[in-house]
Amino acid sequence: MRWVVVLVVALVVAWLAGRWANDAAIDKLRVASAQRLDGYAVSLENLLSKYDFLPGTLELNKDVIALLQRPGDEALRAEVNAYLEQLNRRSGSTTIYIVNLKGVTQAASNWRSRQSFVGDYVAFRPYVRDALRGMPGGFYGVGTTSGEPGYFFAHGIYYQGRMLGVATVKVNIERLEQGWEQDAGKVLLADANGVVFLSSVPEWKYRTLKPLPLDVQRELEESRQYFSHPLAPLGQRELRQLDGGAALVTLPGDQRTPLLSLTRSLAPRHWSFVYLSDLSSASASARSVFLFALLVQALLVLLVLYARQRKQTRDHLEVLVAERTASLREMTHHLSEENSVRRAAEEKLRRAQSELVQAGKMAVLGQMAAGMTHELNQPLTALRTMSDNAQVLIERGRLDDAKGNLATISQLVARMGALTGQLRQFARKSDASLTAVAVAVVAAVTSALFLVERRVEQERVNFRMLVRDQDVQALCDSNRLEQVLVNLFNNALDAMADCDNRQLTVNIERANGRALIAVTDSGPGIPEQIRAHLFEPFFTTKPQGKGLGLGLAISEQIIREFGGELRAEAVAAGGARFVIVLPLAEQETA
Ligand code: ADP
Repeated sequence: MRWVVVLVVALVVAWLAGRWANDAAIDKLRVASAQRLDGYAVSLENLLSKYDFLPGTLELNKDVIALLQRPGDEALRAEVNAYLEQLNRRSGSTTIYIVNLKGVTQAASNWRSRQSFVGDYVAFRPYVRDALRGMPGGFYGVGTTSGEPGYFFAHGIYYQGRMLGVATVKVNIERLEQGWEQDAGKVLLADANGVVFLSSVPEWKYRTLKPLPLDVQRELEESRQYFSHPLAPLGQRELRQLDGGAALVTLPGDQRTPLLSLTRSLAPRHWSFVYLSDLSSASASARSVFLFALLVQALLVLLVLYARQRKQTRDHLEVLVAERTASLREMTHHLSEENSVRRAAEEKLRRAQSELVQAGKMAVLGQMAAGMTHELNQPLTALRTMSDNAQVLIERGRLDDAKGNLATISQLVARMGALTGQLRQFARKSDASLTAVAVAVVAAVTSALFLVERRVEQERVNFRMLVRDQDVQALCDSNRLEQVLVNLFNNALDAMADCDNRQLTVNIERANGRALIAVTDSGPGIPEQIRAHLFEPFFTTKPQGKGLGLGLAISEQIIREFGGELRAEAVAAGGARFVIVLPLAEQETA
């Protein structure tokens, strides 16, 4: 419905614009036509006024007067004929002749020709009649003798206040038509009755602008003004009256294209000049303006549609952005909630891990407990025996021997004290969040070794410590590093339990700006499928009661916490190698 309205409005506006253009073009055409008509009227008047005085001057000629007084004087007639002939030639008129009061031609410039007017009766012709009545005038008509049209000027010839006859001059004004034919418009000149007597279109000549009333028809027949021409109406039809004597008309046989007709009356002669111009240029410009207006409106509609589309898109985008912003805000809220939950969980995890580390330690201690008891029992037994012996020796006065015994006792106690001290140190629960400090790697390895030394000796394991860089300091916690090393040593000893050749090697060095501790054994090594699970908690291949599967998992985590790495490698000669990589403390202190 809306589109129909838009279309109708666009058509109406375009039609109005077209009409306006049409009117403007017609207006312009009318002005141009008026200018043309003015020009043609001036040249007509110029032509006619040249001859206005000529008939009147003939009464100045004595021979003319004499001939009218003595009409039988043939010699005189010949004289006057010659004079008129000469005058006619000089003035460029068609014919000049003298008529007596009875209306009979006495002398004429064309006396030589076969159509000579001399002797003709012309009283019936209106201009002669009027002049005879004392009214000089002009008249356009077709000659009755010659059949040629022309403008007739007639004037009375007076001698001493008495009229003797009439002088008549006929002028050809048809040559004006030649000028009109060049014009794009059509020009016609009609007399007071509307009879067209000059026209740029030959067929329109002697047609009438409107049907003639009967009395006028009769009068024209009598005066033979237009000789025998039938004087049929032209049949033009007026479509619309415009200002200033203009109208839109159509001509029969050419109905389609209206013409602009402009009429100008030539007052003194009661003639009317009509100028007809083709309106096709006006209607063409109207058509173009109509189309142009349609086009402009179509463009406007497109622009409006485009703007609306843009606005819709923008609105849509804004809504989308608002929605997204809201959902983002919600998400952020969600995330921060999740974050706090996660932080709590992490805290919990850290605590749990710390517990796990401790549990791992206790497990190792448990495993070691049996060995330890044995380890402590032996010196205790020795202590008792030696102290008993010392008593006996003192009683017997062998004081030197007793002193020796006591020294040994003191050594044993010191050794036991060192062992328990190490154990206490190992079992100590370290802080959950440790700060890394510089740890002398060689010292840490020595401490750890001390805790497994008995086993190494008992199981006849060949232990070697190959130190390339003596003073390597790793950035970690000594207690934790020892825990890891004890784990690795115990695992190596477990692995080599059934082997004949038991070799445990520790390499200490700096490599690529990091501290490197490699623990290598000559055990059976680690099969590929097991290596993938080594660091998983509770993964163990040891019989129940022997292994918990926590050692490597905890160790790996400890090393990672210090920004380091624990990895297992296969050894070409068989056996397993665990490598601890830790950041160097030296760089930091340096
Ligand atoms: P656990 O010692 O309680 O089994 P660990 O995490 O310390 O737990 O070790 C996991 C497993 O890794 C062991 O059960 C063993 O199969 C394997 N493993 C560890 N060290 C070695 C090694 N040096 N040689 C061969 N296998 C090893």
